[in-house]
Amino acid sequence: MSHEMTQLKAKLAELSDWNAINSLLGWDQSSVMPVGGGEGRGRQMALMSKLTHEKMTDPEIGHLLEKLQKQAEQWDPDSIDSAIVRVTAKDYADATRVPTEFVGKMTEHINTSYMAWAQARPANDFKKVVPFLEKTVEMSRQYAGFFPQGAHVMDSLIDMHDSGMNVATLRPLFKSLREGLIPMVDAISKKQQIDDSCLAGPFPIDQQLTYARTIAEQVGYDFNRGRLDTAPHPFEIRLHHGDIRITTRARENDLGDCIFSVIHECGHAMYEQGVAFELEGTPLANGTSSGVHESQSRLWENQIGRSRTFWQHNYPSLQAAFPTQLKDVSLETFYRAINKVQRSLIRTDADEVTYNLHVIIRFELELGLLEGSLNVRDLAEVWHDKYTSDLGITPKDDKDGVLQDVHWYAGIVGGSFQGYTIGNVMSAQIFEAAQQKDASITPAIAQGNYQPLLGWLQKNLYSTGRRYDAPTTLKRVTGQDLSVEPYFRYLKAKYSELYGI
Ligand code: ZN
Repeated sequence: MSHEMTQLKAKLAELSDWNAINSLLGWDQSSVMPVGGGEGRGRQMALMSKLTHEKMTDPEIGHLLEKLQKQAEQWDPDSIDSAIVRVTAKDYADATRVPTEFVGKMTEHINTSYMAWAQARPANDFKKVVPFLEKTVEMSRQYAGFFPQGAHVMDSLIDMHDSGMNVATLRPLFKSLREGLIPMVDAISKKQQIDDSCLAGPFPIDQQLTYARTIAEQVGYDFNRGRLDTAPHPFEIRLHHGDIRITTRARENDLGDCIFSVIHECGHAMYEQGVAFELEGTPLANGTSSGVHESQSRLWENQIGRSRTFWQHNYPSLQAAFPTQLKDVSLETFYRAINKVQRSLIRTDADEVTYNLHVIIRFELELGLLEGSLNVRDLAEVWHDKYTSDLGITPKDDKDGVLQDVHWYAGIVGGSFQGYTIGNVMSAQIFEAAQQKDASITPAIAQGNYQPLLGWLQKNLYSTGRRYDAPTTLKRVTGQDLSVEPYFRYLKAKYSELYGI
């Protein structure tokens, strides 16, 4: 290894520790920190991110990269060192592109915008956030302009989360999804609706958490390198190869919320637990994109956790955990309840069939806002119209309409919604490929043994971390480019049987 590579790796290892310290402050803030800690923590985190940004943009890293990019011309382009130089160069360039002054103004604006939203949402007062959101849209355009330009203003914002994807590749994908999903939702709505009252309990919180933990162990989340806590919003966070944590929440009157949040976050966490140890301390020791990350949470949550096969094996233990509540509920009744489809207003509560329609609406609105073809002051009305035409349900107010997601009020507009849908689409594609390429996976799942699937995913997907961008990763894992076909095959098979459509 060259002297420069040794020096770069030492700097990157230190940087990954800085990032871990930031993450630990964030984990604490989002899970166990008392309310009174908020003000001090805000200051501490601002200080830490400033110091980390200085480390990331250290000119010495720039000098090392210049030399290493020349050396790398002689290296195997598929080697880990080549990938480290390539990914670090991109991260370094990105970190140095945005002027410090702009970052300061942006942070200040986002803070006031978030505070306005926190008041406006309960008051159902969209007008209050209009001036803030107008400024956010303007600043999002400026922000996008600091990065290499694609054909569309949103391309650089998408690339930040889903490297290798852009508006031109996503538009046709979302169009065919929309065209396939709307008739499916229509057909389901005309059928006998599923009764999911068996999930309303009440189910004691402690027992739910105990049961969810056994499910997490069973699917393969490694508790020697992780832990499960409660938090208002479930999340997964990576501190180090040996410390990848998840959180969940539980509600007494909703059995599915806790179990499926845990399986979802396990999917994210098992992805990161599976990254090859040799990548530790480098920027490659992460998931490669939002979409690929979400594909793994969705694969485990939906393709596995909401399947009949999964519950054929696990329902007896669930009934044993909640004997009074579930003794008279059949497996079939439970299976149907956890897969109920309904037109609803809130994205985060949506089922598998309607979920992507919520995302596609947001994606289209973001395009309009950034292109300038949609004015912020018309946004609430257009939101209503789109929900009426695409989801067949009209929001009664803006609280459960345009004000429901925090994203546009606490960050830039553009780049953060498409990953959810890319993830859903990829999840079916990757699961189908796994089952086709390793015949031992499907029969093992029926026995409650998820190790062959997890092993296959670790070997073919998780281990490579950020070595390849999202399209390359998908191609290596499945042999195919991103396609909606496996996803539609999956939805059609499952929901035609459930609803007789
Ligand atoms: Zn997720």
